[in-house]
Amino acid sequence: MTTRAIRAARLFDGTRTTKNPVVYVSDRTVVRVTHDEPVAPDVDVLDLGAVTLLPGLVDAHTHLVFDASTDAVGRLQAVSDDELLRGARVAATRALQTGITTVRDLGDRGYVARRLRAELDAAPHTGPHVLAAGPPLTSPRGHCWWLGGEVEGVDAIRASIAAHAARGVDVVKVLATGGEITPGTRPFLMQFTPAELAVAADEAHRHGLPAAAHAHSAEAVAAAVDAGFDTIEHASFLTPDGAAADDAVIAKVAAAGTVVSATLGYLPGQPVNPRSAALSATLTAIFTRQRRAGVRMIVTSDAGIDPSKPHDVLPYAAEMFLLFGDEPETALRAVTSDAAAAIGVGATKGRVAAGYDADLLAVTGDPTTDITALREVQAVFRAGVRVR
Ligand SMILES: [Zn+2]
Repeated sequence: MTTRAIRAARLFDGTRTTKNPVVYVSDRTVVRVTHDEPVAPDVDVLDLGAVTLLPGLVDAHTHLVFDASTDAVGRLQAVSDDELLRGARVAATRALQTGITTVRDLGDRGYVARRLRAELDAAPHTGPHVLAAGPPLTSPRGHCWWLGGEVEGVDAIRASIAAHAARGVDVVKVLATGGEITPGTRPFLMQFTPAELAVAADEAHRHGLPAAAHAHSAEAVAAAVDAGFDTIEHASFLTPDGAAADDAVIAKVAAAGTVVSATLGYLPGQPVNPRSAALSATLTAIFTRQRRAGVRMIVTSDAGIDPSKPHDVLPYAAEMFLLFGDEPETALRAVTSDAAAAIGVGATKGRVAAGYDADLLAVTGDPTTDITALREVQAVFRAGVRVR
């Protein structure tokens, strides 16, 4: 297989930053990274000039079946699974064009994201690598019940997870609390008992699958940690009156090493959910508190749910991470190597190093000092092929 070389001014390889890299790619894989070394005359060189090369971004919480319209839920309920699949292809393309080369879909209907994964595995240059949860497990008429994942009692939980595994999902998603987008549910109320959550996490692990818990309340976050979930989605510590950090629960999350997936990022100029807007300063303080307590945190988007969250919003989410007192390089890790590790693909995604998939992003400027440079996309490579 022919080896090609990509030159850039700077490389953030997922862990650290270096100058004048040469990244050698053979077929779909990075085979070598050197610095300040001449390239052999028989090797094709692509010199990208004054750009920073990074791993393709990893969005570990997205919804490809939501179209980011003002009525994403209503539209989803009105169309067929085949129509959802067509929309998911569009969403996946939009993500790839901004440099998101891996997405973890945390809730679809009819295993649409799993179907898309199969398509993109066969034609990787047309979209990101997809990991899919299928319909998330929820209580009867609970949060996102219209996605088809209603279960009641431990036997139904086990049977549902077995059925998901048989469909080839990559992760099991459980809605431990209600959510904002489902009338009749409350984000600060539990939908399952702690014992049921423990059964769900155990059953997922028994099938060799990681488990992700959607948890907005302190009680649900604590129960998800005790149950052994691998990631906690949102961890926003919502209460009936707003939101309030619970330091004992935060200490428990930190001690367990459970990864919090902070769903952040809003496209400027779009209306933001009024409740989120009103809580924004409080939520920033709560996430800051989690970081100071040593909670492992990755940055994700929840893309698709409304117009402020299109499927390419992740760079804006990375910017918000700086509000919690972290440096730009930490924010970059939170959308590359740390995110890949958190979702079980850390051996092939999220880094630029020998043996890793050649999923790359090149941006103008230096995102390691100015994170907004992530928006200045110059080139995207997926599985070794330049797609932008
Ligand atoms: Zn979500």
